[in-house]
Amino acid sequence: MNPFQYVRPSKQQAAIDAVAKDPTAKFIAGGTNLVDLMKRGVMTPHKLVDINRLPLNKIEQQNNSLRIGALALNSAVAEDRQVREKQPLLALALNAGASPQLRNMATVGGNMLQRTRCAYFYDTTMPCNKRQPGTGCGALEGVNRMHAIFGFSDKCIAVHPSDMSVALVALDAVVQVSGPKGNRSIPFADFHRLPGNTPEKDTNLEPGELITAVDVPDGPFTKHVHYQKVRERASYAFALLSVAAALDIDGSNNIKAARLAMGGVAHKPWRLTAAEQALVGKPATEETFRQAAAVAMQGAKAFKYNAYKLKLGPNAIVQALKTAAAA
Ligand code: SF4
Repeated sequence: MNPFQYVRPSKQQAAIDAVAKDPTAKFIAGGTNLVDLMKRGVMTPHKLVDINRLPLNKIEQQNNSLRIGALALNSAVAEDRQVREKQPLLALALNAGASPQLRNMATVGGNMLQRTRCAYFYDTTMPCNKRQPGTGCGALEGVNRMHAIFGFSDKCIAVHPSDMSVALVALDAVVQVSGPKGNRSIPFADFHRLPGNTPEKDTNLEPGELITAVDVPDGPFTKHVHYQKVRERASYAFALLSVAAALDIDGSNNIKAARLAMGGVAHKPWRLTAAEQALVGKPATEETFRQAAAVAMQGAKAFKYNAYKLKLGPNAIVQALKTAAAA
């Protein structure tokens, strides 16, 4: 690991200033991804700004949203009574991620900022445009069974690894950030980026901007929800593919509203708005779910080793919707 400076400010503005003024500085909270990346030489910040002293861990109702502080621990959010009652999809997605030990360290802000688990990104002897722009993409012609089927570019085909973020994009969450130019709100769907020609950028955060909270708007998705995660072992594994599904179903078994998103398929959590529209006004039946799944998979394209996702995807969507409807 390279030498680095460590500071632990107690004021939010001091933390923002410390990162904004030094392009080699990084915020650190739980450190469950960043420290691994530093040990492997994938990321080499010269300064770590520890934000754990900042008062950003509350979970509270504000107007028509549940505001979740950026430093709230993944385990605390998943166990919070308000989250479980008002946003059970979020609790399910959080509990599907990582291990209990990691969920006790990882924060909401850090979860959103975790980096891809593409093996070539972690191997500093291999080409990777995300780690070192301009060096190429080892995964394009390599072992790409974990990689994207939507929204990739010829520069990068990696996927975003967060489960929590799949639920948050489905629930129309809004990210609150504070930076050198003040405060702003970013719709969750616009927070992460597609790789394009700049795969080194995972998000639309500006230099020095700090995530302070995530707002999850109140909605009708308190009962018929499910997070379907397909992985190679029962816990502590990243998704081969995942589906966040939420339905609002009336007394005649018709779908009044639907939310659907996938993980493990793109460089960002992948919202399926066309499939949602295909569900609304239809009966909550397997036939409806299969039609929506077909809509969801339009435009998907596989690489040499991940063609299984083209079959797994629609099956996982149908399973998620069936389980949500039955909940
Ligand atoms: Fe790097 Fe992206 Fe290619 Fe993986 S897929 S090697 S992260 S450029």
